[in-house]
Amino acid sequence: MANAQDIEISGSELVSFVTTDWAGITRGRAVPYADLDRWLGKGCGWVPANAAITAFDPIGPDNPWGSSGDLRLLPDPDAGFSVAELPGASALHAYQCDIVGTDGAPWDCCPRTFLRRAIRDLEALGFQVVAAFEHEFQLLGEGPVAPAFSLQGQRVADPLGPVLVRALDDAGTEPEMFFPEYGRRQFEVTCRPAAALAAADRAVVIREVTREIARLLGSRASFSPRTAAEGVGNGVHVHVSLTDLAGQPVGFDAERPGRISEVAGRFAAGIIRHLPALCALTAPSVISYARLVPHHWSAAWTCFGDRNREATLRICPTTTLGGGDPARQLHYEYRALDASACPHLALGAIIRAGIEGLEANLPAPPLVDIDPGFLSDGEREALGVRRLPSSQTEALAALEADAVVSGWFSEEMLAGYRAMRAKERELVAGLSPADLAAKYASVY
Ligand code: GLU
Ligand code: MG
Repeated sequence: MANAQDIEISGSELVSFVTTDWAGITRGRAVPYADLDRWLGKGCGWVPANAAITAFDPIGPDNPWGSSGDLRLLPDPDAGFSVAELPGASALHAYQCDIVGTDGAPWDCCPRTFLRRAIRDLEALGFQVVAAFEHEFQLLGEGPVAPAFSLQGQRVADPLGPVLVRALDDAGTEPEMFFPEYGRRQFEVTCRPAAALAAADRAVVIREVTREIARLLGSRASFSPRTAAEGVGNGVHVHVSLTDLAGQPVGFDAERPGRISEVAGRFAAGIIRHLPALCALTAPSVISYARLVPHHWSAAWTCFGDRNREATLRICPTTTLGGGDPARQLHYEYRALDASACPHLALGAIIRAGIEGLEANLPAPPLVDIDPGFLSDGEREALGVRRLPSSQTEALAALEADAVVSGWFSEEMLAGYRAMRAKERELVAGLSPADLAAKYASVY
């Protein structure tokens, strides 16, 4: 085989058709970029049992499909992305796809379709969600370390920051910020908010492009909720605001607690009510529960809080500096989320829970402004604050127990999801915390 540096790359590019599956892994197939037009309308073949592939590849054997059936990965013409200039590599071209039958009908188990339907049902009530996924990740292995949030931390990783930001800009994700975080070789990257489907698509691009840039710069970036037994976790916080169908914000009311409007309060109440079951979809892996522990600024309680980083649903601050308008800025972030979740499934579930709150006219949950882990059991009970599941098994049990949340999915989907998660548990059973973290860091 020729040496990599002797190969002429340009003109031999591929374009991938991808789906991001229930395990949060982006998978698909590629065709020559020059042939794109021939493929765009029909997509490429896909296999139902792929839905039950674990993050570590073995398929959950008890899935409902086995060797039968055929599907298509149908590219969404609005969800293509490219990074043209990658140091020493071919351009990265991909389209995010919906999974459809060979007749083009949407497939019930497609995560992107699940999100599309949640968006449609929210629109029927007169609202839209604008969202942004904020990601933390770590560079693995040995390498220079620097104080948290420091300029040194920014520079020891250079040129990761600027190369990544340029690549994300190329890919159309509107990058906003890149900075060293609190953890060892940990960074955070954020992008501007977008309509719900585009926001979930952006989350996929951020993860894939970050891993690719790090690889080309000689290291490995991991978004795993935990990459080591000790230290802080890598969270994904999804920032959510509500608008009317004309795109005008409806979440702000200066007179109400937390300045959250009545409608945004009802939406939040649906999320808080269904949080334990939502965790099975938003913090879905075994390692997720090594992150969701009290006092880690992640999320451990069914808690709504104003500017409180121990709240699972946290109202973010606004500022009038620079002429900012609080009504346009006010939103909350959902923190019981990590990169082992499929962003489409996670955001779809958050929106569906919000819809339940709107339809049931739930009152806004009480605001908790301190770490709920420091309250007594009685105080938490008075505020309706419950502990989130503390393991994947508990989260899946909460999903089964919550007829509303499990009712969003077909029997087929639930059976496939259970089969995939059972296989995942089998593959990591008995690992020490350090080995568990290493195993998940190798795929996320
Ligand atoms: N690393 C924390 C997490 O696991 C988040 C820290 C923060 O940015 O507030 O979610
Ligand atoms: Mg952070």
